Amino acid sequence: IIERIAALKPDEPFYSFEFFPPKTDSGYQNLVARLRRMAQLNPLFVNITWGAGGSTVSKSLDLATLCTSELGLTACLHLTCTNMEKKIIDEALTKAKQNGIRNILALRGDPPRGEEYWTPPESQEFMYAVDLVRYIRAEYGDYFCIGVAAYPEGYADGSNPEAQDPQLDLPYLIEKTAAGADFIMTQLFFDTDQFLAFEKMLREHESGIFKSIPIIPGLLPINTFQSFIRTAKLSHAHLPDRILEKLGAVPSTDDEQVKHVGVDILVEMIDRIYNETDHRVRGFHFYTLNLERSVALILDKSDVVKSPVRLKLVSHEMEKTTEKP
Ligand code: FAD
Repeated sequence: IIERIAALKPDEPFYSFEFFPPKTDSGYQNLVARLRRMAQLNPLFVNITWGAGGSTVSKSLDLATLCTSELGLTACLHLTCTNMEKKIIDEALTKAKQNGIRNILALRGDPPRGEEYWTPPESQEFMYAVDLVRYIRAEYGDYFCIGVAAYPEGYADGSNPEAQDPQLDLPYLIEKTAAGADFIMTQLFFDTDQFLAFEKMLREHESGIFKSIPIIPGLLPINTFQSFIRTAKLSHAHLPDRILEKLGAVPSTDDEQVKHVGVDILVEMIDRIYNETDHRVRGFHFYTLNLERSVALILDKSDVVKSPVRLKLVSHEMEKTTEKP
């Protein structure tokens, strides 16, 4: 990823897509067909998520391998390090290398299924994402390009003992970056002001460690009103009134109208981020939820991120059959 970014022209924007491994065989086949179509949109790279506790090991690896070897895409495999045996991490890294995957998003991981909050694992070896970054660098040197997660928004609603706070997280983001991260990818957000303030805080940090590292904002295309609200809530994303007002202007049950308003919202966010950071932020990551219509529409409409081809859009009805993450 880092080499591909370096090979772009100065200021040239880019975009990437994220997919999750479907649970069923038919879901998997549907996604493979979708990946083949979306590969034509020419993302700089695609991310494949990792089920908490290693619950999707082989499917995540298979998908990342398919992207790399059959579709000619640059794949980034997510890998978590807590609540699972170390041998799963070792096997995943060995297979990733064997299969030509060069990029890992190194994460701590969410709480295991059924548990609401994360509790520290018994083994002290992998407590935090930084432990995984250090481990990959120690075992594999520079073979892997490593990304780490960051959270532009804080929340402290009393619902979670691990409330996020960009200021409190900062020493740990510095630690992860110093341990060898090549890029930073953010949690999804809709509050562009908060992202811009976060980016500024990192760039201006006295250590200088974030001066030139790519900071890639994570963006959620709006597919339906219901999924937008659910996903934003799960990610603790603040929803600015302006965005709610725009969406409130169309019936929330009219998925097609909601999607089109969502496209305009995302196009505006991308435009602001690219221009107000003076192009320091020029990569945009789409949490596709394995759907293509909204992403294709955004790439069609945006003046910043443009696809080389115009996809024949699949129908909204067809996307309804897609599995949920
Ligand atoms: P860390 O960087 O380890 O931070 C976790 C918490 O611990 C933070 O509150 C931090 O402040 C604190 N902390 C860190 N280091 C220390 C320290 N040394 N001492 C004390 N406190 C410390 N989850 C999945 O299961 N699969 C995925 O595929 C996946 N993909 C993701 C992609 C992105 C872009 C993002 C933003 C998140 C993703 N997640 C995924 C979710 C992620 O696993 C959770 O948000 C997890 O709770 C935190 O992961 P992290 O890597 O940010 O953790």
